[in-house]
Amino acid sequence: MRVLMIAPPGAGKGTQGALIAAHFNIPHIATGDLLRDHVARQTALGQAVQAYLDRGELVPDQIVLDMTREAIIAAKAAGGGYVLDGIPRNMEQARAAYEIARELGMTADVALHLRADDAELTRRLLARAALEHRSDDTAEIIAQRLALYYEVTAPIIAWYRDRGILVSVDAMRSAPEVGREILAALEAIRPSLDHASARERLSLDLASLGEAFGATGSSG
Ligand code: ADP
Repeated sequence: MRVLMIAPPGAGKGTQGALIAAHFNIPHIATGDLLRDHVARQTALGQAVQAYLDRGELVPDQIVLDMTREAIIAAKAAGGGYVLDGIPRNMEQARAAYEIARELGMTADVALHLRADDAELTRRLLARAALEHRSDDTAEIIAQRLALYYEVTAPIIAWYRDRGILVSVDAMRSAPEVGREILAALEAIRPSLDHASARERLSLDLASLGEAFGATGSSG
């Protein structure tokens, strides 16, 4: 199962991403977490990105795309599934991430969109600020992150709808309720993914069978 998540800040990407990862036993790749980890460790990359995070701006595309490529390569080695949380965040990232995934044979099966209104998102982020002290969970920076989401991230949703992989879930309810609905939707999709891979296996098997019998490949 390969899932990417598109959601405004505060919708629950982190919580639901972790749930999906645990349920399907696949890696949870969260670009925000990876970046904050670099900041906490004060690596060169962390020092380069800290100001963007503090201002609620997007870090340069190439930085997150390089991280994502590395993480998808690791996910491929770990069995082939993933939950991507935090990327893509603009159309350029969406195209580039798709190219990377296609090159690695790891394109997403599902684009999971979480919907919630601004008042609820702001309420949740301010509540989290009281607990976690994230540098970007202040009223002003929250407003900036939301505005950026509507301006550059939300437009990507139509692209996934056109590709036929969009699943959109109402995230206004409690985390367990939203989680149950997400897992039910993904479980409903899972058999069709298994069938697709079964078909691939079948055509591979037939090809090698043809070779074994000295077929010239003209039957396809
Ligand atoms: P949220 O969705 O609540 O804003 P994240 O943890 O996903 O939280 O992201 C936090 C910050 O990390 C973003 O505001 C941005 O500065 C940076 N970031 C994360 N992912 C990306 C990305 N794909 N492209 C650019 N910047 C990113």
